[in-house]
Amino acid sequence: MVRTKRITTGTDVVTANISFEFFPPQTAEGVEKLRAARAKLAALEPEFFSVTYGAGGSTREHTLEVVFDIQREVLPVAPHISCIGATRETTRELLTRYQAAGIRRIVALRGDLPSGTADAGEFRYANELVEFIRRESGDWFHIEVGCYPEWHPQAKSPKDDLLAFKRKIDAGANSAITQFFYNFDAYAAFVDAARGLGIEAPIVPGIMPIGSFSKLARFADACGAEIPRWLRRQFEAYGDDTASIRALGLDVVTGLCEQLLAAGAPGLHFYTLNQAGLTTEIVTRLRSRQDEP
Ligand SMILES: Cc1cc2nc3c(=O)[nH]c(=O)nc-3n(C[C@H](O)[C@H](O)[C@H](O)COP(=O)(O)OP(=O)(O)OC[C@H]3O[C@@H](n4cnc5c(N)ncnc54)[C@H](O)[C@@H]3O)c2cc1C
Repeated sequence: MVRTKRITTGTDVVTANISFEFFPPQTAEGVEKLRAARAKLAALEPEFFSVTYGAGGSTREHTLEVVFDIQREVLPVAPHISCIGATRETTRELLTRYQAAGIRRIVALRGDLPSGTADAGEFRYANELVEFIRRESGDWFHIEVGCYPEWHPQAKSPKDDLLAFKRKIDAGANSAITQFFYNFDAYAAFVDAARGLGIEAPIVPGIMPIGSFSKLARFADACGAEIPRWLRRQFEAYGDDTASIRALGLDVVTGLCEQLLAAGAPGLHFYTLNQAGLTTEIVTRLRSRQDEP
């Protein structure tokens, strides 16, 4: 099987769309730090900044605060909306507020309720949220959805997960952002399989820069992303040597981004964890390598 057959035209690093994801800080100090990080990242001229939204509305006010903060800075913003634990009424209110504020892009997700929380709300899966957004607001929003090159941990099978992805696109999503991964082949095979099902929407790789191995291992466990053995072993061998972990992480992630763009990935979405440093370094390296003869 030729895995990369459907993503063979390279994307120019300079014209590739990049976007940056933040989570809403819980403290005034965190909000200030995020403003400083955002100012640095804005210099890279991203297509948009997105802001996560805790399942069940747990970060609702903080998310709104960051979203409108970004808007005041006249920067493009894409709020996430998660639907698990939500009602149609609360979701409608959010959409109305965003529409009134002139926001044109939304990242629509199911979310995961913390275990033990009983009320799943009025939506079961993200495709129902996409349908609802389209019904409520027509074509106003560009809708992004999530997808999973290494498969969502709760999916019954890869095929079921792909069909679930297709339902979100069929419900009206315009494009997708992947869960983070470090295995290029997983992305290539996923795009190939999606195209085979007739999904033509752009599938933008989600990129997680690596600053701390223990943190990364926790995230990867929680969301079902694989840290390849060769990489994990190298990080483990570095122990507390944070400088070496950072240096290796930068090389590996920059190399992955180059490979993805060379294979035609339409852009890169960075999970910044509210930090500017690693993401800026990766984007700067990518752009400067492009200029090399
Ligand atoms: C780019 C990105 C951003 C994210 N941002 C946030 C955020 O801001 N807030 C947050 O809480 N979480 C966020 N997440 C995490 C996400 O909410 C979780 O991964 C969640 O478990 C799945 O969300 P989803 O929208 O992909 O769900 P869905 O597409 O609904 O899929 C969830 C699971 O259900 C399965 N499924 C779908 N439809 C059906 C069906 N009809 N019958 C049976 N099974 C079905 C799927 O295969 C999958 O296993 C983000 C994830 C990504 C990739």
